[in-house]
Amino acid sequence: MKFVIIGSGIIGLSIAKALIDKKIHKPLNILILDKYAIPSKGTSVHNSGVLHAGLYYKPGSMKAKLSIDGGIKLREWCKKINLPILECGKLLIPFNENDYVNLEKIEKNALNNGCNVEMIDHDRASNIQPFLIKKDKYLWSPNTSVFDPKLIVERLYKSLKEMGVNFLKKSVILDDSDKKRLIFDDYTNLSYENYINCAGPGALDIAKSVTNKFDNLTILPFLGQYAVQKSGLEIKTNLYPVPDPELPFLGIHLTPRINKSSLIGPNAIPVFKKDIQGYDLKDMRDIPSIITNNIILFASNKSNYRNHALSELSFNSKNKFYVNALRYFSSDLKSNFQIEMDSKTYGIRAQLLNRNTYELENDFIYEKINNNIHIVNAVSPAFTSCFSLAEFIVNKVI
Ligand SMILES: Cc1cc2nc3c(=O)[nH]c(=O)nc-3n(C[C@H](O)[C@H](O)[C@H](O)COP(=O)(O)OP(=O)(O)OC[C@H]3O[C@@H](n4cnc5c(N)ncnc54)[C@H](O)[C@@H]3O)c2cc1C
Repeated sequence: MKFVIIGSGIIGLSIAKALIDKKIHKPLNILILDKYAIPSKGTSVHNSGVLHAGLYYKPGSMKAKLSIDGGIKLREWCKKINLPILECGKLLIPFNENDYVNLEKIEKNALNNGCNVEMIDHDRASNIQPFLIKKDKYLWSPNTSVFDPKLIVERLYKSLKEMGVNFLKKSVILDDSDKKRLIFDDYTNLSYENYINCAGPGALDIAKSVTNKFDNLTILPFLGQYAVQKSGLEIKTNLYPVPDPELPFLGIHLTPRINKSSLIGPNAIPVFKKDIQGYDLKDMRDIPSIITNNIILFASNKSNYRNHALSELSFNSKNKFYVNALRYFSSDLKSNFQIEMDSKTYGIRAQLLNRNTYELENDFIYEKINNNIHIVNAVSPAFTSCFSLAEFIVNKVI
């Protein structure tokens, strides 16, 4: 009987790698299932590709621990196998009084997490990114980098396949735990000894079939749109606004990419449809409850949600992306700056909402049930954290 991994995204693939590296299972004994595409064409290949340095996450949280260690491991692995990594750093830029206050809080938090950050002035910041808008200070994170998510997912898949890991296109609908078998949507089933559920947006439903521990959680989907810069000034580093500490979104940022064309985004628009721009959101099909939950969050303004929703709902045009991108620069270079919306880059964020508290869940969430592990909130920066998150989870298998 094979050890089963549900989901062929970066988390499922990293878990397989960790099981093999730690000699817990032989490649031939591992079976990875995915309902849509192998390897995944989901969130793992539709994201910003920023290797986060761990600045924002609460000290002691899973995100803080695993993103810093994971970032180091992912960077080393890419270098070892000659996958490109852009070691370009990141500048956080304050735009209003509140941002200055939050910038100091982020600096303190980052230092508590052991990150390498430093407040710098305009002269130094301009040496990093020419034509940068003049502000009193900026937070500089030299260890933030950029990776190519697609190249990483494809390389990991290829190496696992070559080692003999098994892959199968199947959609798990539930765990018939009494009989220790996974039931597929075509009414076939698969007996298992153990499994790890890393089905991204589908993980919560599978977990709910065996436990009521997650009854208070539901998915609130957000669409992250991006524009791509076509011409103009070269973006040398990640340029980020100061995020609202209440929200799990980081704001529209500029990210230099490996292929030189920089990425602008993402926004985070609440989604109320099942099919959106080529994405199949059937994993999150409960549209009436999504609408209700959005209304409750909007009315209560929990997590500052009303302000977010209002600014995002108006933020769906190329012009708005253009204005947001240009706010990072001094006014004299606007003429040559061209951008294009690029729907191929859009990603869906399956954000978890706690229905008891009406708070957006921010940290990674996992649970071991009947000796199987369910990872139900592998949100950003789970790609950065993938190798450390996988090792952490695999240690729970033993
Ligand atoms: C807009 C956006 C930007 C982001 N930017 C960054 C960033 O810059 N840096 C960073 O570190 N992270 C970033 N992230 C987060 C990161 O992309 C994700 O955390 C990560 O890709 C999650 O990987 P995964 O393997 O859990 O999920 P996925 O890639 O979604 O893989 C899950 C797989 O499970 C399969 N599946 C689902 N249901 C079932 C089922 N019932 N049966 C079988 N298979 C199933 C799906 O088909 C899918 O292939 C971003 C996310 C978004 C949305």
